[in-house]
Amino acid sequence: FFPEENEPRGPVGFLAIQEGCDKFCTYCVVPYTRGAEFSRPVAQILGEARRMILQGTQELILLGQNVNGYHGAWEGEGGTCSLAQLLNHLAVHLAPLGLRRLRYTTSYPRDVTDDLIEVHGRLPLLMPFLHLPVQSGSDKILKEMNRKHTRDFYCRLIDKFRTAQPDLAFSSDFIVGFPGETDDDFHHTLQLIRDVGFSQAYSFKYSPRPGTPAGNRGDQIPEPVKAERLQILQTLLSEQQLAFNQSKVGHTCDILIERPGTKPGQWIGRSPYMQSVHVVAPNLKVGDWVSVTLQAAHERSLQGVLRPPS
Ligand code: SF4
Repeated sequence: FFPEENEPRGPVGFLAIQEGCDKFCTYCVVPYTRGAEFSRPVAQILGEARRMILQGTQELILLGQNVNGYHGAWEGEGGTCSLAQLLNHLAVHLAPLGLRRLRYTTSYPRDVTDDLIEVHGRLPLLMPFLHLPVQSGSDKILKEMNRKHTRDFYCRLIDKFRTAQPDLAFSSDFIVGFPGETDDDFHHTLQLIRDVGFSQAYSFKYSPRPGTPAGNRGDQIPEPVKAERLQILQTLLSEQQLAFNQSKVGHTCDILIERPGTKPGQWIGRSPYMQSVHVVAPNLKVGDWVSVTLQAAHERSLQGVLRPPS
């Protein structure tokens, strides 16, 4: 059951399209706490999305624990709609009402379909940024996590996405210090990060969750080892994030203003790649679109200047 939302909206709106998870990764409690996967019917999603757009939302972020496992009922072909079909449907029906951007999260690599890859190369509203959690670069650890993908499968997926949309930037999740993780396993993860190149990422020390299979294992990794590995991994990810941000300096892009900054006249918005962009311009307001030239890059943000009207 998803409650109807009617309150006023900001320019970026989150819309739950799917709940629960059937994957049973051995470190995760979601399948036990949220239950089996459930997808909302397309008509319900379209109705809520329409209300959001009419209340001011311009960027929609579709949410689900396993969002690309979406398979909601609809009147269209086959009676069941895939995430790719839903994205297309929302773009067609809501762009005329004011929808400007679409994103979705969080995806499960094994459930990525060819039509989802293809839609990234075809739908201009779908932003060139994808969060695709891999968790580890070691096939042994991935198997013990019950992730159902290998390192090679994940890298091939990234290649397919990049072929469909060369401009796509990737983010991921990493767990370090999963039970039984050796130095060798950890170095496979570092190598995967070097091979793929991420624009940002979330990384955590493994923390046992009571009742999960991994939580009961006797070969837990000592805290100091986990802490050291996390620091090494985060240093590499930070370098990649900074390099990605620096690669955009000199580029021009559209920013959706989301909130005021802390300095006088400063506003903060997001680039198509989910980068936080700061711009100083006294006459802006939340929900404005501005074209900016990116002038300076830091690890977690960029500074932009308004592009003069042509
Ligand atoms: Fe499901 Fe994600 Fe948890 Fe795995 S980590 S069980 S895919 S919610």
